[in-house]
Amino acid sequence: MNSSVLVAGGGIGGLAAAFALARQGVSLTVVEQAPAFGEAGAGLQLGPNALRVLADWGLREAVDAVAAWPDALLVRDAAGGRALGQMRLGSAFAQRHGQPYACLHRADLHELLLQAAQAQAGVVWRLATRVASVTERSDTVRVVLDNDEALVCTAAIGCDGLWSRVRHAVVDTAAPVPTGHIAYRGLIPAAALPPALRAPRVQVWLGPRLHVVHYPVRRGEAFNLVAVVHAHGAAPDDARSWSEPATRADLQTALGPLHRDLAAWLDAVPAWTRWVLHDREPLSGPHGMANGRLALLGDAAHPMRPYLAQGAAMALEDAWALGRLASAPGVADWPQRFERYAALRWARNAQVQHRSRRNGTVFHARGPLRWARNAAMALLGERLLDNPWLYRGPGDDPRPA
Ligand SMILES: Cc1cc2nc3c(=O)[nH]c(=O)nc-3n(C[C@H](O)[C@H](O)[C@H](O)COP(=O)(O)OP(=O)(O)OC[C@H]3O[C@@H](n4cnc5c(N)ncnc54)[C@H](O)[C@@H]3O)c2cc1C
Repeated sequence: MNSSVLVAGGGIGGLAAAFALARQGVSLTVVEQAPAFGEAGAGLQLGPNALRVLADWGLREAVDAVAAWPDALLVRDAAGGRALGQMRLGSAFAQRHGQPYACLHRADLHELLLQAAQAQAGVVWRLATRVASVTERSDTVRVVLDNDEALVCTAAIGCDGLWSRVRHAVVDTAAPVPTGHIAYRGLIPAAALPPALRAPRVQVWLGPRLHVVHYPVRRGEAFNLVAVVHAHGAAPDDARSWSEPATRADLQTALGPLHRDLAAWLDAVPAWTRWVLHDREPLSGPHGMANGRLALLGDAAHPMRPYLAQGAAMALEDAWALGRLASAPGVADWPQRFERYAALRWARNAQVQHRSRRNGTVFHARGPLRWARNAAMALLGERLLDNPWLYRGPGDDPRPA
């Protein structure tokens, strides 16, 4: 037997799971297909629920060193520029929810989780190693790698993202489905922006069949910008890629008239990439997250559309729950632990999946729905933009004090 538990995938969820379990004394092998851990991705938003997890792990200081702290979430009309709604994200927000709202470069969050996990004993790291298949046996799990090497472990956790292979042995072999939306992304050095646009703010621009969001990362040294439009023209060559090269011209055809501030933001992007958004039906029960000695975590179980900015947060929450269960009294073995984990996590993840989908429809609305959305935002303001049910998370503690 090579190790006790195999973690497939060393993305945000895999590293978080490795850290959460290793600090409870679980010995692990982390298998990541990439040849090296490095600068990948762009921005991520972390609400108070995610920061609560990181604080519980003693990682708030590491987050504070790299995060940007937006003072507000401002929603504007993409064509006219009119402010449609605003929620303050400063101290009142932090007091209300017990933690603030942060924006990070994905690579910075990845790096701080990697350092935290590598500081734990009992973790074997295998890069350039791809899981091909996973089979559960009566009291072990057999993992076959792409090079035909076989590993035998007591349990396996699929943190292998949207196109998960571990998922095949837990739920189904169906591929994720394109949502019909394409995300264009760029990272803008703050110095490249006109000073008037550099406010530390999450800004969301809504238009028919499109929205654009930008926010500061890296202590405000850069801004991440993502424009999501309905698919048009030729599909990118690699549907799985997070960073297919793209041009402003590719995006322009999907955009209508733009307010001058928004046009200035788009003009400031030095290089564009794009990815085709895919997802799966929201979870319908605990069976979507675990089966016997196998469990799924993060996007492998519940890919999130990016309209509630909770993909990374839900992976962190999953990992937190697993870590707590690893030392919870009365849960003696992995099948039992995974059963409790799935029971605890599936409904919250499903709720976030549903709400993310609904937000997408509202963000991109046309006609009467657009009118109703704007009227509701004007009337309810912060109350509509806040999500106490979500930000109170990560939900029930499997190991109450
Ligand atoms: C390169 C990259 C860039 C991203 N950029 C952004 C971004 O800019 N903004 C954003 O909101 N989200 C981004 N995401 C997605 C975001 O990180 C996730 O949606 C979220 O954090 C949930 O994390 P996860 O660990 O479940 O999945 P992921 O972060 O996707 O991690 C999955 C990991 O598993 C590895 N893997 C996959 N298959 C196998 C296999 N068979 N064997 C071994 N390893 C495997 C992958 O290489 C990856 O490291 C990115 C993901 C990746 C992989």
